[in-house]
Amino acid sequence: MAIDSPLDAVIIGGGFYGTAIAIYLAKQRGLKRILLVEREPALLSRASYNNQARVHNGYHYPRSFTTAYRSRVNLPKFIRDWPQAVKQDFVKVYAIACRNSKVTARQFERFCREIGVRIKPADSALKALFESHLIEDVFEVEEYAFDATKLAQWAVCELDESGVKIRLETRVTSIFKGPNKALHIVLQSKHDGDESITCRYVFNCTYSGLNQFAGDFPGTRIGLKHEVAELALVQMPPALQDVGITVMDGPFFSMMPFPALGLHTLSHVRYTPHIHWNDEPVVDPYRKLAHYDRATRIERMVRDAGRYLPTIFESKYVDSLFEVKTVLVKNEEDDGRPILFEKHPELPGCYSILGGKIDNIFDIIEKLDAEYLISESFIDREVR
Ligand SMILES: Cc1cc2nc3c(=O)[nH]c(=O)nc-3n(C[C@H](O)[C@H](O)[C@H](O)COP(=O)(O)OP(=O)(O)OC[C@H]3O[C@@H](n4cnc5c(N)ncnc54)[C@H](O)[C@@H]3O)c2cc1C
Repeated sequence: MAIDSPLDAVIIGGGFYGTAIAIYLAKQRGLKRILLVEREPALLSRASYNNQARVHNGYHYPRSFTTAYRSRVNLPKFIRDWPQAVKQDFVKVYAIACRNSKVTARQFERFCREIGVRIKPADSALKALFESHLIEDVFEVEEYAFDATKLAQWAVCELDESGVKIRLETRVTSIFKGPNKALHIVLQSKHDGDESITCRYVFNCTYSGLNQFAGDFPGTRIGLKHEVAELALVQMPPALQDVGITVMDGPFFSMMPFPALGLHTLSHVRYTPHIHWNDEPVVDPYRKLAHYDRATRIERMVRDAGRYLPTIFESKYVDSLFEVKTVLVKNEEDDGRPILFEKHPELPGCYSILGGKIDNIFDIIEKLDAEYLISESFIDREVR
């Protein structure tokens, strides 16, 4: 089906960010003709699904105060806006390793107080799960998990209600600067071939694919780093079924409920990242993952995690999620997860956006609130 361009806005990428931004532009900013383009057959099927599903509350970031603090501020808003997608009925535990940890138990407690999050000593039954000679202390905290399939259901309903058009199995290959502030983009569809579309704004919400465009797209100024990450999906034994555990802060592991499948993910700082590379336009991260030999590292993950948490030896491996994880190069050391929000002066009207975590959506919306966006058919008057 041909698109009747010019459009007000094209959103590239139908993950959580692209869908939420399309809905925001239609509902809050009054943009009328919006097209959302997604290369996969379904929305929220890439990083927005293939992740650890943690709604961060700050605990994870003792080395990045800003990320921790923003998480603490954003979590209640996330629960307010997507209550149906937030799983709260499990116990969340942070344990501090005795050796090789970048934070001690006392430092962790102090940090939690500083960012204003709740923390209390875990009860004896929880403590008994851990090998006491390897774990300095164990805390019970408030942190939740999200169900990406529920976020996808929300997105489908809201996009429909907002009149946003959606093109699935379609890839944007190029972005060009046109006359009179117009932008031209080229779509490549499995079914309809190539098509060129004119619009006023482009929102590039493609996460790992941010710099994969030909034409006049200049690339992001902030450097990106990618890794192929493996999250093992496991069936936990009864003692761990309603528990999420993170061992801090170094080469340790996390197990989190994965509500979309009723399983847990198991990830390990040493074994989850399989390969990594710095972003360059000639290497397509999606293609790299598609050709990657996905040999699981579950045995190594469980062997190491089991030293700290022996009950995990009773877990049953089901499958693995593999995804490209993209972070900003500048956060390699501090593990922070800020946002990337770039306007491209060479391509006025084109924005590139990346949220390092799901709750960063509120930081992005705050940025967009400050943007002057022409809310009605600018193009009708100026281009046609
Ligand atoms: C292994 C892993 C673990 C993580 N754990 C957590 C966690 O526990 N908690 C948390 O908050 N965050 C976590 N994250 C980060 C979180 O997943 C991301 O911040 C979030 O999903 C980004 O959403 P997005 O919409 O930008 O990306 P995506 O969901 O990947 O959406 C981008 C979309 O763009 C599409 N696309 C790309 N190029 C094109 C193109 N040229 N044309 C058309 N479509 C295109 C892709 O197919 C994709 O659907 C994790 C990420 C990974 C990978």
